[in-house]
Formats: sequence, structure tokens, C-alpha cells
Amino acid sequence: MTGNPACGTEQAYQRHRYRNQVTCRRCCDAHAVHVANWRAEAAIDAGPIEPGRYRRALAGDEPAEALLHPDRARLVLILHTRGLPDAHIASHTRMTTYTTARIRSSLGLAANRRATEERPA
Ligand SMILES: [Zn+2]
Repeated sequence: MTGNPACGTEQAYQRHRYRNQVTCRRCCDAHAVHVANWRAEAAIDAGPIEPGRYRRALAGDEPAEALLHPDRARLVLILHTRGLPDAHIASHTRMTTYTTARIRSSLGLAANRRATEERPA
């Protein structure tokens, strides 16, 4: 291995493993996010379980509540990838911000933040 990756990265996690070191907390967290992203990408490659219903939910024409859980997680992931903060994902999918944050967090994703994020009146 070359270079000296900083702790808190997947590369540093793998270096700990390669050297038979105890992995530090920051590297364990980075590895958990890496695995979560890998699983999410694998799920995206497989496609939605109910494509028609999923497309309608993605368009905002059907509440995410109508989707099976993996499709709901996919929807949150895609909208998160577009840079939307939780509040926007929640209004688009007609879920609560709490549910949106819970699903987003279970995917190992940090919330998107915008300086100009609108707040409900
Ligand atoms: Zn480390």
C-alpha cells in the first residue's frame, strides 16, 4: 500500500485491517458508510420492486407510504442524491421529516444542508 490515508476514510480502514491494527472509531464509521453506499448501489442496479408505483412516487404523484420499504428507501436515496434536504424530501414524498430522516440515516447518509433552505411558516 502506498500513501498515508487519513483516518475517517475507507482507505484508512483498509490500512488498519492490512496492518492488523484495531480499527479506530472514525474509520469504523467511514467503513459503515462505505458498506451502506455499496448496498444502496447494488439495490439501485437491481431496480425497484414495483416500477410503476415507484415512478409515480418519484414524480410526486403518489405518497411514498404506498411503496414497499425497499422502494421507499430507494426513493429517499435518489432524492438525497439530488441534493435535497430532509424537509424537501418529506414534502415531495408526503412523509414526515422524522420518517425521512430515519430512512436517510438508515442508509448511512448525512442530511443535505442548504444555506437557503426554506422553513415552513
Ligand atoms: Zn483510523
